[in-house]
Amino acid sequence: RAKSAGRNQIAFFEGDMQIEVEQRLTLERDLAKALEQHELQMVMQAQVNNLGEAVGAELLMRWHSKERGMVSPALFIPLAEESGLIVKMGDWVLLEACAILKRLRREGHQFPLSINVSPKQFRQKDFVDKVIAALETQGVGGENLIFEVTEGLFIDNLQETISRMSKLAGLGIRFSIDDFGTGYSSLNYLKRLPLYELKIDKSFVQDVPGDANGTAIVGSILSMAKQFGLKVVAEGVETEEQASYLITNNCDSMQGFLYSRPTAPDIWMANHAQEKKQLQA
Ligand code: C2E
Ligand code: MG
Ligand code: MG
Ligand code: MG
Repeated sequence: RAKSAGRNQIAFFEGDMQIEVEQRLTLERDLAKALEQHELQMVMQAQVNNLGEAVGAELLMRWHSKERGMVSPALFIPLAEESGLIVKMGDWVLLEACAILKRLRREGHQFPLSINVSPKQFRQKDFVDKVIAALETQGVGGENLIFEVTEGLFIDNLQETISRMSKLAGLGIRFSIDDFGTGYSSLNYLKRLPLYELKIDKSFVQDVPGDANGTAIVGSILSMAKQFGLKVVAEGVETEEQASYLITNNCDSMQGFLYSRPTAPDIWMANHAQEKKQLQA
């Protein structure tokens, strides 16, 4: 009896996997369609300094599916990475970022935009050419863009990665390590890479200041960054207590729901038009 129960369990498990594989395939197909049918959109989340002024902003992708409703990036980005669709999506993000930059400048906002660049996208042979072409379409300079990359990018082909980063840095593009502390964590590469900034992962920020370990990690990242001459952005800042700890410890900028939700760029600009006029007056 035990044997047949075991067999049933296996059959059940396989059936489950079958469903999962099919669901992934339809999601993949829908995502490819979404890109073509303009269901993808970039939203913007401000990064603020200790005075609450926007000194940067990250662009984040959103998928409003006609059939599925809002699909979380936590679901579709990993899928796009695996299927390779992230490359086409990333090309589109580059063009969008340059177009949004153009609008921000026209409205008088001077801060740079950060975009997430996936390892697969970064490793494409023509990546640098695509970046140059995207900048040229809008006539914006590379110094207006910050590329957020994760530690995974530094696992293989470090030499090649460094030389490509240097080429991009030559265009003025700056590099930020996203989710810092959660991935491959050899601190050795920090001094070899042309880096501008570290982003402290929200899983650490959320532990501040109540949890001693989390607070120690955030404190260590901040002091290490200082010694390496790197800027620090804290992500996922949700409370005044977190903000005041970060400000006291000289974190350069903060990003999180406490300051602003990711917002469509046009709406963000409309909401900040008044402020800008007051500044000019
Ligand atoms: P990430 O780059 O680390 O982005 C930060 C995530 O934290 C975003 O999730 C953002 O909405 C969320 N967040 C911001 N403030 C808070 C806060 O105060 N509390 C909490 N709990 N969360 C906060 P989102 O938009 O769901 O994106 C998830 C991940 O998907 C991103 O993590 C990034 O790795 C990836 N992603 C998003 N857009 C793109 C894109 O255009 N290209 C690539 N390659 N990846 C992207
Ligand atoms: Mg990011
Ligand atoms: Mg992050
Ligand atoms: Mg994160």
